[in-house]
Amino acid sequence: MSIKTYGEPVLRQKAEPVAGITGEVKKLIEEMKKTMCEAKGVGLAANQIGIPKSFFIAQLAREDEVRAFFNPNLLPLTDETEKTEEGCLSIPGIWVEVPRYLKVRLTARDIEGNPVAVDLEGLPARIVQHEIDHLNGVLIIDRISLAERRRIAKELAELKTSA
Ligand SMILES: [Zn+2]
Repeated sequence: MSIKTYGEPVLRQKAEPVAGITGEVKKLIEEMKKTMCEAKGVGLAANQIGIPKSFFIAQLAREDEVRAFFNPNLLPLTDETEKTEEGCLSIPGIWVEVPRYLKVRLTARDIEGNPVAVDLEGLPARIVQHEIDHLNGVLIIDRISLAERRRIAKELAELKTSA
């Protein structure tokens, strides 16, 4: 399983809802976990592996296991945002300052199809905002300042031609 990188159209596709969590999907999740861990990531969305379906995996805390979230939805619990450096497995080598809500509520289905609702703060809140952006075809480079865009323009262009 390989991770799609910037320039590949699937990263710009809006993910379709998942109708049912089949055995095939569960197998896929196991492979995604392996791929994410090898890449030393903390989150991986389905379209990053070429599948425009609405699910992602994430490790929300260091001591947590990697969990899968299907048909996720996000609700900001505050207007407060914070800008911190963020990277993306699909945009390797580029780090940019991305503003994110400090607190969000994530609702989704877990791998057994059960509803989950969790309130997250700080880094885990950032991770799920990043992954849900992916499912909407949005990348970190869409959320940065003009100055940041200028700073990374050359690297980004090089990445695109190698995709
Ligand atoms: Zn990413």
